[in-house]
Amino acid sequence: MSSNQPTIVIIGGGYAGATLAAELDKNTSYRIILIEPNHYFLHSIAALRAAVQANEWSNNALFPFTSLFKNATSGSHVINARVERIIPDQQHVIVYGGTQQQQQQTIHYDHLVIATGAAYRFPGKITEPQTEHAKVLLQKVANDIANSKHIVIVGGGPVGIELAGEIASVYNSGRQNKEITLIHSHPRLLSTHLDIKDSVAEELRDQLEQRLHVNVMLSETVSVPPELQSGQRLYINTPTRLTTKTGQQIDADLVFFTVGGKPNTEFLRSSLSMPSQVFTSSGHIQVNEYLQVDNGKGVRYSNIYALGDVSTHQPGMAYWAGEEAKALARNFIDLQNGTASMKPVKQAMSGMMLVPLGAKWGVGQLTLPWFGAVRVGPWVVSMLKGKGLLADRYKAIVNAK
Ligand SMILES: Cc1cc2nc3c(=O)[nH]c(=O)nc-3n(C[C@H](O)[C@H](O)[C@H](O)COP(=O)(O)OP(=O)(O)OC[C@H]3O[C@@H](n4cnc5c(N)ncnc54)[C@H](O)[C@@H]3O)c2cc1C
Repeated sequence: MSSNQPTIVIIGGGYAGATLAAELDKNTSYRIILIEPNHYFLHSIAALRAAVQANEWSNNALFPFTSLFKNATSGSHVINARVERIIPDQQHVIVYGGTQQQQQQTIHYDHLVIATGAAYRFPGKITEPQTEHAKVLLQKVANDIANSKHIVIVGGGPVGIELAGEIASVYNSGRQNKEITLIHSHPRLLSTHLDIKDSVAEELRDQLEQRLHVNVMLSETVSVPPELQSGQRLYINTPTRLTTKTGQQIDADLVFFTVGGKPNTEFLRSSLSMPSQVFTSSGHIQVNEYLQVDNGKGVRYSNIYALGDVSTHQPGMAYWAGEEAKALARNFIDLQNGTASMKPVKQAMSGMMLVPLGAKWGVGQLTLPWFGAVRVGPWVVSMLKGKGLLADRYKAIVNAK
């Protein structure tokens, strides 16, 4: 082990952190320490299908980290633990858990990368650390879905729409076997994605209603029950009467809430790891064009970076998290070679989204040279994403078998 190599500590092994770790391992001799509570890379893009078809899809959503690092001489490794705090003055992170059996450890870094992503409700994100336990959870929710009569999904963003599509494409394709209701607070689906055309949102609604027998309720809200807010329960699987904002009552035996998704920065803010001016009001970490933590008003850390969903640099997409990771890796490679100064990391391109409704249906928008934003239909969405949900691509990135 070449212990004189600088150490890069990466907090979070999602699309950004795991891609960065793999790129650095391939191309540099830095010592990389990836700190991630889960023993697996969670491929969220396939998690919703795995929640419906657990037997067939769990292995395409959870990729164990066992062979992430191939360069055996660098001393790089994964620590399955949670970072509780960072101490920039001493270049230390404090972690809890891991092999130290629920004890605190202090880990030194030369460069620190914060890639802790954003929290979404199950089954979009899974926080059960052991792979086998996470599989059991997926099997349980798949059984609950199979045994339910009326499923309600609250939230008509991409996650809610895709979950409705995954369930309906298995149970309601051809004829309606289950009542499925998707409730969204705005008059249009995908209402927070203003760069996506109305026609894409309308076509999604049409396919859900006409092809997959999903009842889409717009301009309606249902509040998140306290036991879900506190994390005591992941979803509701007991007979429940929901009352919407306008007083409509809906009886359901299974309810998923897919609303909200907030950056995982609470551990930094509550531990006062960095001054509060670093964070936006939504809790994102402000960064500059090199992804260094920088609020643009004098609070700047030259050896602490943030990327992916946790930072202000990109719009919360796996693809762009990966692109940022590759760009940051190139800057670290240049730094090691002493060949160039850091290059700015490109901003994400807006107006691109593919929303599959199961393997066969779906709608998307691509931004093409000359044509601009173009709506694409089920065949293109299925071929580019819906069929395989990019599982092979991400398996290869994290070197999973
Ligand atoms: C259901 C679903 C479907 C999606 N589909 C798409 C899609 O089709 N296309 C697309 O582009 N995007 C999609 N997204 C968005 C995409 O998943 C995110 O943009 C992406 O995960 C961002 O990557 P990240 O590395 O920043 O964060 P994440 O992938 O969330 O990774 C963050 C990691 O940090 C870890 N972590 C958190 N706190 C700590 C801590 N204190 N210490 C150590 N580790 C910590 C977490 O365990 C997690 O593994 C989807 C999201 C969901 C929920």
